Amino acid sequence: MAQTYLNYIGGEWVAAQRGRTFENRNPARRDEVIGLFQRSDHEDVGRAVQAARRAFDAWRHTPAPKRAEVLYRLGHLLIERKEELARDMTREMGKVLAEARGDVQEAIDMTLLMAGEGRRLFGDTTPSELRRKFCLTVRMPVGVVGLITPWNFPMAIPAWKIMPALICGNTIVFKPATDTPLSAVRLVELISEAGLPPGVLNLVTGGGAEVGQPLVAHPGVRLISFTGSTASGQEIALGCARQMKPYALEMGGKNAIIVMDDANLDLAVDGAVWGGFGTSGQRCTAASRLVVHRAVLGELQERFVARANALRLGDPLRADTDMGPVINDSQLENIHRYTEIGLEEGARLLTGGERATQGACALGSFYQPTVFTEVKPSMRIAREEIFGPTVAIIAVHDLEEAIAVVNDTDYGLSAAIYTADVNAAFQAMEEITTGIVYVNASTIGAEVHLPFGGAKATGNGHREAGRAALDTFSEWRTLYIDYSGKLQRAQIDV
Ligand code: NAD
Repeated sequence: MAQTYLNYIGGEWVAAQRGRTFENRNPARRDEVIGLFQRSDHEDVGRAVQAARRAFDAWRHTPAPKRAEVLYRLGHLLIERKEELARDMTREMGKVLAEARGDVQEAIDMTLLMAGEGRRLFGDTTPSELRRKFCLTVRMPVGVVGLITPWNFPMAIPAWKIMPALICGNTIVFKPATDTPLSAVRLVELISEAGLPPGVLNLVTGGGAEVGQPLVAHPGVRLISFTGSTASGQEIALGCARQMKPYALEMGGKNAIIVMDDANLDLAVDGAVWGGFGTSGQRCTAASRLVVHRAVLGELQERFVARANALRLGDPLRADTDMGPVINDSQLENIHRYTEIGLEEGARLLTGGERATQGACALGSFYQPTVFTEVKPSMRIAREEIFGPTVAIIAVHDLEEAIAVVNDTDYGLSAAIYTADVNAAFQAMEEITTGIVYVNASTIGAEVHLPFGGAKATGNGHREAGRAALDTFSEWRTLYIDYSGKLQRAQIDV
């Protein structure tokens, strides 16, 4: 009998008001039920927002270094439980264990980074234009914040939002993806164990329409931070705009690796395999396009396809598995539809293009590593986010053409260039219109102390992680202290 997991509201583990649940299954073997989770709705959201509002005053008045103590304790709990958290994550969403450990590690890093911010949260002090007047800025919390997260980084992405929100003094209603509620429950359990006061963080599980939308619409929620697809992000933006509610969106990507004629091809192939097929291509920063100089096209293609064919698919808990399943059957169908679209558009399939159903893949949602060549930048497989192990190779004549191809997409998250030419590298860093550019490294590999996010349809101008995260989760208050004892008029009295 599968275990039932509850919502966390006001410091209590509680069932959804209507008593409904949903099932979460292991994508590597669909016969394994991970657990039953609360199928919540607007009533549960309402209760969670109420609890968060009640907790807000006490939490915002808790000195930031004291808030940080909870995060330090949490960081240590996460370190202690890393292995078990990673295993749960792999079971519920299928990324291979090494990557799941990396996901938990990212949460640890973010927790400790933000704990350190408890003794910084620096503002500015600056001279006044008037005598005997003092000017400074301080960060103030926003209030109750709604956090909506996707399934592909079940612990890292929630941590990227929860930790800066907490250190800035906000209280939270957290809605994780329906494919990964277990990792969310585990994280919240540990935060509670670390001593977070009741009501400061509330967890409500359930679908985008039933929980996400009411959270966006709730007038008591003062900010939405969302990571997910561009289509959902657009809906959320519209919902927030109606209420003049700030929102920070991190959305899709169609990231590219440029391989120049002078590139170290061993390195480039390593990066292309990791970027294209890591997490079965289900990363917002996945390298789904390879933009290759014609002089090295044949050799790169041959080596890349050989490596793709050598990837071992199967049980993601096993240390010798390279690639696990994709998240669910509907995503599997979506990926396969793009294979058909690629073929209809006239791209040439070099390998893959089918479900993987043999051996250890028989019971799960697996797709073969898939490589298309002779892809034109105008084709849908070169423009739309597939979010699976499908890579499109586009041939170019020179750097200018390569950069133009990289930029010729609605998205703007991550890009990479492999080259030995420092001039080419700097030109790429300057001209590519993505939020992140790598040189001689793949499109994935964010570190938590640097800003993360994208331009164009990937984001709405905010950045996550690093100090930039504090800008999302706090509001600047500007303070002027006049100690002259008389009326002084800025811009008028000199
Ligand atoms: P999704 O948009 O389907 O769902 C994301 C979350 O939003 C889920 O919790 C979902 O329930 C909720 N949701 C969906 N519609 C909603 C609505 N109208 N109102 C409120 N909430 C709603 O995305 P997904 O399939 O879970 O994740 C994959 C997508 O996430 C990909 O597009 C990927 O590129 C993107 N992603 C982006 C980043 C980034 O930092 N840029 C990181 C990871 C994933």
